[in-house]
Amino acid sequence: MKPLKNIGDFSPTARKLWAMTNPCVLCPRKCRVKRSSGEIGPSTSLRTGFCGIGDMPVVSSVGPHFGEESVLVGRPFDYAQGKGGSGTIFFAGCNLGCVFCQNYDISHFRQGRKVTISELADFMLDLQDRGCSNINFVTPTHQAAAIVAGIETARKRGLNLPTVYNSGGYDSVEALKLLDGYIDIYMPDMKFSGGAAAKEFANAPDYPEVNFAAVKEMHRQVGDLQIENGLAKRGLLVRHLVLPNKLAGSLKVIDFLAEHVSRNTAINVMNQYRPCFKADEHPEINRRPTSEEVEDVRQYALKKGLNVIA
Ligand code: SF4
Repeated sequence: MKPLKNIGDFSPTARKLWAMTNPCVLCPRKCRVKRSSGEIGPSTSLRTGFCGIGDMPVVSSVGPHFGEESVLVGRPFDYAQGKGGSGTIFFAGCNLGCVFCQNYDISHFRQGRKVTISELADFMLDLQDRGCSNINFVTPTHQAAAIVAGIETARKRGLNLPTVYNSGGYDSVEALKLLDGYIDIYMPDMKFSGGAAAKEFANAPDYPEVNFAAVKEMHRQVGDLQIENGLAKRGLLVRHLVLPNKLAGSLKVIDFLAEHVSRNTAINVMNQYRPCFKADEHPEINRRPTSEEVEDVRQYALKKGLNVIA
């Protein structure tokens, strides 16, 4: 069963995004493979493009997640009542090739199961019924068409939670513009501000310029993060993972946010980096950052006036 078999049932926006996958120019890789037919890409041995996913979304897991930022998860009191948590839908495949990926079994090895748009909508409604605070699409970039169609279907059936676009930050402005009105909270990574590191560690030398343009577009759509009763309702929340040896180019990321996006940008300066997957093949990232390295970045973000959250 094709995910958008009844394409006429969906909005022009969903149809435009679907058309962008055949041939696929949905993300900055522009692999130009026909995902509806699983065409072999011109520069890859995979049956599909770089992300490795064809026409149907592949979902690895669905459920309330309590390890996200507190503004997404809710209050411990709510957990005790069996409510709260961020309602995550974790997509398999990824349009980045991070050698230190902590979820490489899902992102690189694409563990999961193919689902229809109707099932995707059912997942959202089930998460809402379970008391989750939002619907959190994890690694959504290569699934933008299915996500929009799924949100349309779920909203018709009663979905009213905020939606979270939890991406690696390698998103095209053209695709993002089509998400306007569907996404309430953008939560992109800002992984690197330098092309050399982005090339070596994520196979994406243009990541910095693509990422900076994407974050500007995300902020244009939803503005600064708005929080009500401790929960995020709308806005931009940037995640920045501090790498050892200043390899993420953290200060430049913060300068960009403060000077070109908003001084009130919400940012989570993350200290969770640990060498995973193929990081041991790259000696400069084969260790955790020190607490001083992380704190230096956090202090710089505070000095620049950003809204540093955890
Ligand atoms: S979404 Fe996937 S197939 Fe499409 S351009 Fe990006 S990596 Fe390539």
